[in-house]
Amino acid sequence: MSKVDQQLEELQATITSELPPDISLTAVRYEGPELVVYTRDPKKFAQNGDLIRKLASKLRKRITVRPDPEVLTPPAQARERIMEVIPDDAGVTDLDFHEDTGEVVIEAQKPGMVIGRHGSTLRKITQEAGWTPEVVRTPPIESSTVSNVRNFLKQEREDRRDILQKVGRQIHREQLSKDQWVRITTLGCCREVGRASFILSTPETRILVDCGDKPGSEDEVPYLQVNEALGAGANTIDAVVLTHAHLDHSAFIPLLFKYGYDGPIYTTAPTRDLMGLLTLDYLDVAAKEGRTPPYESEMVREAIKHTIPLEYGDVTDIAPDVKLTFHNAGHILGSAISHFHIGDGLYNVAFSGDIHYKDTRLFNGAVNDFPRVETLVLESTYGGRNDYQTDQEDSERNLKEIIQETYDRGGKVLIPAFAVGRSQEIMLVLEEAMRSGDIPTMPIHLDGMIWEATAIHTTYPEYLRDDLRDRIFHEDANPFLAEQFNHIDGGEDEREEVASGDPCIILSTSGMITGGPIMSWLRHVGGDPENSLVFVGYQAQGTFGRRIQNGWDEIPVRDQGRNDTLKLSMDIHTVDGFSGHADRQGLMDFVRTMNPRPEKVLCVHGDERSTQDLSSALYHEFNMRTFSPKNLETFRFV
Ligand SMILES: [Zn+2]
Repeated sequence: MSKVDQQLEELQATITSELPPDISLTAVRYEGPELVVYTRDPKKFAQNGDLIRKLASKLRKRITVRPDPEVLTPPAQARERIMEVIPDDAGVTDLDFHEDTGEVVIEAQKPGMVIGRHGSTLRKITQEAGWTPEVVRTPPIESSTVSNVRNFLKQEREDRRDILQKVGRQIHREQLSKDQWVRITTLGCCREVGRASFILSTPETRILVDCGDKPGSEDEVPYLQVNEALGAGANTIDAVVLTHAHLDHSAFIPLLFKYGYDGPIYTTAPTRDLMGLLTLDYLDVAAKEGRTPPYESEMVREAIKHTIPLEYGDVTDIAPDVKLTFHNAGHILGSAISHFHIGDGLYNVAFSGDIHYKDTRLFNGAVNDFPRVETLVLESTYGGRNDYQTDQEDSERNLKEIIQETYDRGGKVLIPAFAVGRSQEIMLVLEEAMRSGDIPTMPIHLDGMIWEATAIHTTYPEYLRDDLRDRIFHEDANPFLAEQFNHIDGGEDEREEVASGDPCIILSTSGMITGGPIMSWLRHVGGDPENSLVFVGYQAQGTFGRRIQNGWDEIPVRDQGRNDTLKLSMDIHTVDGFSGHADRQGLMDFVRTMNPRPEKVLCVHGDERSTQDLSSALYHEFNMRTFSPKNLETFRFV
């Protein structure tokens, strides 16, 4: 008998001894990080409100209870009972019964009402119907991404359960090594922005954190070929952790499956959906530009199938010697600071991913309270000694002035923006400015994937800032549903029409002018000095965005199949306070108020000057050991 089976047998015995005699256990199984307990008495289990919580804390495991398939109430009957328990106002849009596992997925407009106070309605559902409920939100704005992901996971349920069981046995395998050490190898994003990737390793476990591309330079990819990474075979990696969906962190995650990786990806549910959206678009853009995409869309589906979504604050076993916890990073939807607890109290590492320390219109600021952290791997995008950003308030005023001036002379405002994050932030600023009469109400056209990304935001309001969440819960106050927002879905014809029409605002991808519909907008409105181009996000070295900021006014474009040059005559502005990144002050404050303060900080994800400046400032100010590593360095911590 394997060690895992033996462990499960012991667990079954322990749980049985804790249960009242009238509750029977039929099986105990690992599915991913969870311990799934099958019982013939699901209703009694649910009546005993505290039982699961007590078991979970005694066994220090996440526990899910499911009805033994043999005792299931027939779905038609269960449906009736469930609908009696759930208040009408919850707006249930779908019930999906899975007889193989006794789970019912309830899709509702107001999931909170299906859950009830402290889960009371959920428990009532099990008490009355005997099924194990899982609740998801009906997207307030229809999202093809969300519905594609949900349908796909539904189709692949059986496969997915096999994957989860395999992962579960891997996580709970016997520890082989008696050695103790912790290492981090940098595979990218050191003294540069882009291709974020790290390996966190112990004698037992290897975890890949992020795997991104480098905007503006397709050939520079993370150093996956080294032995520490995939050089010893993709299946020597135990787990992949994704901090957030931006392509410079996520683009090559699907590629891992092409290389033979077959393990789990841990990330948040919104990051999973956004990763699907952004990587599929990435393939699309590559194909349109005549490049061979590094992987096929099938690999994106593999990535989604292997994703185990975690919520902020869930402490999760992801290897015999590693626990992972995500915390809000304040950067984009679902972005997570990834905290690793290694060994039994041996060592703690936090990867910041990209962070924003202060609250923004969209998100609460990054969390910097942890039980323990010895080493922090910190982004340094704006870590340079002069990288201070304008206050959000001043930035908003600045943007509104540019819009007013452009409007007054009959021009249009073109804003290149990342589909995810900055676009929604700008949408909120503009919606409020128009509602309060600060600027005239005019159409705001959203091109590229901005509308779809916005729909995904409204599907996960619990990841947004508290007051925004409340507004989205009330349909008539949902700012993203304001009338002036227009989704460009008619392609080139619609763009031409907008370009020859009245003053308006256009938000379009890509955010750094590296491709996408922004190229077409520049062709339509770039030659007219009455129009304005406003940069609101970071422009990486090597991108057209950075070159235009530096004064370039000629852009190569393709017009009707011919290569041509476009002379840019529009007014160029940069409004810098909308970044999703903490500025120098924010990064310093993040560390200053961090609880506890780390002993060591690796400054990464910034150009050479920014990482070195930040590293030396942290050293001088807080007397901690700091580093500005190069790619392919390895640090040993224990
Ligand atoms: Zn990012």
